[in-house]
Amino acid sequence: MRKIFAWFALLALVAALGAGAQNRSVAKGPNEDGTKPALVRIAGEGMLDSHAYQYLTELSDDVGARVTGSPQAQKAVEWGLAKMKAIGLENVHAEKWQLWRGWTRGTAEAEMLSPIRRPLHVDAMGWTGSTPAGGAEGDVVAVNLFDLDGEMKNMSRLTGKIPLIVMRGEPNKSFIQLFAQLGDFLKAAGKVGVIAVIGGQGGGKSAGMNLTHTGILGFDADFAVPVVSMTAEDQGQLERYLARGLVPRVHFNVQNTFTNGPVESANVVGEIRGRENPEQVLVVGGHLDSWDLSEGSTDNGMGSVCTLGAADAIVRSGMKPRRTIRFVLFTGEEQGIDGSFAYVKQHQAELANHLGSLILDNGQGPVRSFQLGGRDDLVEAFKQFAAAISYIREVKVDDKVEDGTDTLPFSMAGLPGINMDQDSPDYQYTHHSAADALEAVKPDVLAQDATLMALAAYWIADRSERFASPWSPEKTARMLIAQHEDAMLKAFGLWPKAFSDMEKRDVNTN
Ligand SMILES: [Zn+2]
Repeated sequence: MRKIFAWFALLALVAALGAGAQNRSVAKGPNEDGTKPALVRIAGEGMLDSHAYQYLTELSDDVGARVTGSPQAQKAVEWGLAKMKAIGLENVHAEKWQLWRGWTRGTAEAEMLSPIRRPLHVDAMGWTGSTPAGGAEGDVVAVNLFDLDGEMKNMSRLTGKIPLIVMRGEPNKSFIQLFAQLGDFLKAAGKVGVIAVIGGQGGGKSAGMNLTHTGILGFDADFAVPVVSMTAEDQGQLERYLARGLVPRVHFNVQNTFTNGPVESANVVGEIRGRENPEQVLVVGGHLDSWDLSEGSTDNGMGSVCTLGAADAIVRSGMKPRRTIRFVLFTGEEQGIDGSFAYVKQHQAELANHLGSLILDNGQGPVRSFQLGGRDDLVEAFKQFAAAISYIREVKVDDKVEDGTDTLPFSMAGLPGINMDQDSPDYQYTHHSAADALEAVKPDVLAQDATLMALAAYWIADRSERFASPWSPEKTARMLIAQHEDAMLKAFGLWPKAFSDMEKRDVNTN
């Protein structure tokens, strides 16, 4: 039997290879579609005379941390506008949008009082609250993220305590559902008066090396209860005490401030207008906002300066694409991908003329793949582009949806929200931590990433055939379901009504 199955598998493979060869003859790459001379010039500017690292140095050291809605973020917006103008982009402007609420970090101190006395290393998670002035002390109690249903049955036992989020046994839900449920837990914990919650991003533990990792605990989610990220080393010690039946006692003093109402933010926009179809637009971008434990050089200074570096290389090459390349530095990514959701809303009438978006936001490493945001119809064509850049770097191409950055609103609009995925093993340390500084970035890797962004952008915008048009909401919803994105989007209330209506129609007709 196995041999027969192997034989059928071989037949299927031969057929698939044949189909691939046919597709290849249809999908033209830079060697056949006339874009190569321009790409050669852009690659030369990008690789031999990159300005991306200079931009990142300025953004890191002269602007620094830039939390959305803060004065520093406004300074970053002004810096981005000035940079785009200096590069020579057209139509440079800021597009304002509103964040539901602003937040400012104050102090976060923790001291273990028993079984031994020593300071613990913590930082507040973003958009979480404060202890009483001067702080308060309490016993640490383990709360199992994998059984929040059980833990939440008796919340009053946590009054005056310090819940420590742990993961024991097997998860009873998907991680996305657990993350959403953690929000319910934090609300309930605030109501019963816990002192503070120890739990990092998604309720998880830090990566080690004595680093804390801040971040938001949902999409546009704020919590009255203070929640802290603790270093893995300190948290591990507390966990060991609890496992031995000891009850650590800890004093916390955490002070943060919220604004009373919404705060203003803005995306930064500049263009290279298309020479033939200026109304057709490819968005190229990264997010300008960062967290505030360091300079935000990797998250997402990298994406911001790749965007600017790509724009600069194309402008200096003197080449003009057929269609418009719109460079966008988004803000509010860290609070719930807010800037790019605002962009898609503000440009609703123009979306039919969009070709997609090209985004880089996975740290400091070299690009390893282009993920085409659900658009399987574009994979074969994009592989021709990947083949043409293979001597700069070997990159893979797939149709995966990246739901953790500014690609998502575009994929939800039926457009290819293209994620330039990177090989960034050290990102687990620099992500949202005090180590997210310029030291983590290698200038040669950055120059290559920016150049690959410039080449991909120019190729998409300039090829004679239009790269992509938006899919219908029906087709888009089906794609998101097939890629298992619906559970996350529903858990966080992001699943659009048009998609639910389609699902109801499907149920009714079946
Ligand atoms: Zn990011």
